[in-house]
Amino acid sequence: MKLYEPVTLAMPLAKRIGEFILEEGRIPEGDEIRGFMREFGLEESCLERGMAVYRTKFLVALAFPRGENVVIDVISSSGELSDALEVIAYRDRELGAFVVEILPANDLEYGGNIGVEPIIIDEKTLEPESFPVLGHFEEDEEGLFLVIDRETYSRWRENGDPHTCPICGGELAWKGKKAYCRDCGYGVRVKG
Ligand SMILES: [Zn+2]
Repeated sequence: MKLYEPVTLAMPLAKRIGEFILEEGRIPEGDEIRGFMREFGLEESCLERGMAVYRTKFLVALAFPRGENVVIDVISSSGELSDALEVIAYRDRELGAFVVEILPANDLEYGGNIGVEPIIIDEKTLEPESFPVLGHFEEDEEGLFLVIDRETYSRWRENGDPHTCPICGGELAWKGKKAYCRDCGYGVRVKG
């Protein structure tokens, strides 16, 4: 897994939080968030009163777990805010669902497009009600790719449009198992 820009952490993190909710039927707490960050290779550098700071070479993440919801800000370690993202998980009482969203941390300054569909999970049945295309990022000689599993790919084909970039909403051009986006520069690769 490669972690460069905030989106490269925000997407696998949202996916991990969604998997946790499907298994446990609740929003993860501080210790569980810490476990996910360790899985992703981030180092914890400060922990105080419920807030935790995690670092890796290019990224800093600030986590604010509050029981009923959790907010994780992901910022470039350069301090640049134009690509900073926020992963938010909460229980939406009106919808009767758990929601995990990726949003720009700063709407006014955000430089790109973020087209990631929210994760929506029915709070009673724990059935997914949306099918966002999430995965993790890997690098090869052609660039950085969002790597998705076959299951995610077939749900995407059934419920969405595989010619729309799941990261920015731009147009994807497929060549075999790989797709390329001219708008955000990331690609998508189907695992296996
Ligand atoms: Zn794109």
